[in-house]
Amino acid sequence: MSEQHQNLAIIGHVDHGKSTLVGRLLYETGSVPEHVIEQHREEAEEKGKGGFEFAYVMDNLAEERERGVTIDIAHQEFSTDEYDFTIVDCPGHRDFVKNMITGASQADNAVLVVAADDGVAPQTQEHVFLARTLGIDELIIGVNKMDVVDYKESTFDEVVDEVNQLLQQVQFNTDDASFIPISAFEGDNIAEASDNTDWYDGEILLEALNALPEPEPPTDASLRLPIQDVYTISGIGTVPVGRIETGIMNTGDDVVFQPSDVGGEVKTIEMHHEEVPKAEPGDNVGFNVRGIGKDDIRRGDVCGPADDPPKVAETFQAQIVVMQHPSVITSGYTPVFHAHTAQVACTIESIDKKMDPSSGEVAEENPDFIQSGDAAVVTIRPQKPLSIEPSSEIPELGSFAIRDMGQTIAAGKVLEVNEK
Ligand code: GDP
Repeated sequence: MSEQHQNLAIIGHVDHGKSTLVGRLLYETGSVPEHVIEQHREEAEEKGKGGFEFAYVMDNLAEERERGVTIDIAHQEFSTDEYDFTIVDCPGHRDFVKNMITGASQADNAVLVVAADDGVAPQTQEHVFLARTLGIDELIIGVNKMDVVDYKESTFDEVVDEVNQLLQQVQFNTDDASFIPISAFEGDNIAEASDNTDWYDGEILLEALNALPEPEPPTDASLRLPIQDVYTISGIGTVPVGRIETGIMNTGDDVVFQPSDVGGEVKTIEMHHEEVPKAEPGDNVGFNVRGIGKDDIRRGDVCGPADDPPKVAETFQAQIVVMQHPSVITSGYTPVFHAHTAQVACTIESIDKKMDPSSGEVAEENPDFIQSGDAAVVTIRPQKPLSIEPSSEIPELGSFAIRDMGQTIAAGKVLEVNEK
């Protein structure tokens, strides 16, 4: 096991091979749980397939899928020489966008899977857009299903060109992006360089994963702990629970909850049913604050230090990307914003600028409307108090999803907060 941890998103168009790739990575790194391997080995032998093979596991997964059992590739873990990876929610998962934005599964880096026989497809575009807006640092591009195109270099090159164009369009820094011809199914260039692609001498996938930059743990930032739930536990009292996004919480610290605007001293912190003196980013904690009752605070509050409290927005300016909206978005529109654990109706008070995604320059000042595919800078007024932070200061609390009619229609990050 390695020390450093990475949250990795696997993105790409449906059927391009994301689940297969996750299965392959788990298999190659010895991370498929022993009992699962054992179960498949037994079944394989019973059915006379003999021996255990990756393909057999994947066949079974495919069968499970046909039976309607969801294969949860999210939250799977595997380790390479450099990092312990957690696969965070993957697109396609219903709440991916929401989860990704609300920080429940903030990815550091991503693998973009593009099938060689299909190239850039609608969701490839959508996910790359999102990854860029949400601040994914680096992309590894797996050009998958190379076996289907007879490992042809020319096909690989065509896909690389196509993806490069897309990345430039959304201004992804392409200097560090690595493109790898792979077959998730056959295992080419995943853990070992493949003889089938002797024209390729770049990194294989596990090497590229090892070479990802180290995510910087947000321990230096101020404490920010979005509250998920508030319990009353006999013998202790009121216990808010949540995941620390940034900073450190120590017993004895003076904290406040915003926007509820109450505070006190941290008496106890509990993690995995044990009392601890301090907790760090990524820790899921329950804690108890002197003088705070169950009705004083609620889900959506953010806990932070009394001397550097979470911001409460009267209005805020944000950059948004509209992903899917049946018509047009004009000022006055009031959908529900999901930011960390908060869900608050917010009005788009003004559409200040429409951006040209290919150049990043202002395409139009004060446009009358924006629609699917547009990027824009907007001013937003929450209809109830909302704690949110500028993405440049605390990225973990600086992004949000906009939902309406049961769909995520846009995603964005906060540029500036105008406090009450
Ligand atoms: P997802 O929707 O992106 O998760 O795609 P899946 O992993 O479910 O793969 C979709 C289909 O493509 C399945 O039938 C896989 O067996 C197949 N597939 C995935 N990767 C490869 C590959 O490298 N080569 C071939 N020939 N088929 C693949």
